[in-house]
Amino acid sequence: MPPSRHEAAPFMKAAFITAHGGNEVVSIGQRPKPIRQPGHVLVRLQAATLNRVDLYMRDSGAGITHQLPQIMGLDGAGTVEEVDADEKLLKPGQSVVLHPGIGCGRCEFCQRGDVILCVGMKYLGEHRDGTLAQWVSLPAQNVFAMPAHLSFAEAAALGVNHLTAWRMLFTKGQLKPWETVLVFGIGGGVSLAALQLAKLTGAQVLVTSRDAGKLERARALGADHVINSSTQDVVKEVMARTGGRGVDLVIENVGAAVWSSAMKSLVRGGRLVTCGATSGDQPPADLRRIFIRQLQILGSTLGNFDEFRDLLKLVERTGLRPVIDSEFPLAQTHAALDRLESGAQFGKVAIRLQE
Ligand SMILES: [Zn+2]
Repeated sequence: MPPSRHEAAPFMKAAFITAHGGNEVVSIGQRPKPIRQPGHVLVRLQAATLNRVDLYMRDSGAGITHQLPQIMGLDGAGTVEEVDADEKLLKPGQSVVLHPGIGCGRCEFCQRGDVILCVGMKYLGEHRDGTLAQWVSLPAQNVFAMPAHLSFAEAAALGVNHLTAWRMLFTKGQLKPWETVLVFGIGGGVSLAALQLAKLTGAQVLVTSRDAGKLERARALGADHVINSSTQDVVKEVMARTGGRGVDLVIENVGAAVWSSAMKSLVRGGRLVTCGATSGDQPPADLRRIFIRQLQILGSTLGNFDEFRDLLKLVERTGLRPVIDSEFPLAQTHAALDRLESGAQFGKVAIRLQE
């Protein structure tokens, strides 16, 4: 709660949901500028990127405790405006990128460093005000120095998109440089991030899409083999490209529509990591295949602070740049949401927050 010594807060521009439905429930207008609490950082945001969950929050937000109106947006990048006087790692004016998960700090998961499993997790833009705004205030541990070679929009994309792909590939999927990974639905943010990060390790990467144009762009980003799932049989192509063996790892966030192909593309003992189910979350389990071929099915969401720190180091060292599909000013958030919902994008849809 704001300390009483502060005067009435000024306002800022933000995109916020006032109800659930289509774009008509997304208001672009004024909200109170947040007042920083001790231990928090007030960040003047420059850019955010949209994620599927923004559409989910707009449409229903079912199962996610939140109060309306609520500012949208999970990821973000900007500059530090205000910090504690004794803050050691962050300085006013510094460019920063945000981790969107605010854990309780007390549960068994937080205490063992697995904040991402926190029983009281609050995400920006899901359980509390988010980043489609000119300022946000959040705990200092969620604020990280931004890789110097990136634009604010590119940096913002790391906080959800690349962090999710990082945990899927490396923490859960245990990808090794000599292995082969199959990434479904290239063009989506997490899939593209998985392609970029997997290629940095030297692994062989196969990607699928129903869009020939997206496959060509993926090839330019380093995909070793591309499979057009509207004209080709994914499993047959995977087997042809892997000498009949199958892939070591599948990265998947499409769900029911590709689940069967994903399972059948795996080598014996292979791993499948899923972080989404946009096409449905109840595909047949195919249990016999799982136990006879000793497959591993792993769930994953986002990532922890230490994973984010490692990701930022790799991005800095390699010069990796997240793929930005398009950029919109905050005033055109409706058009940006339409672009994401269309599925036509290749990479992240970004929002500029200061004009
Ligand atoms: Zn916790």
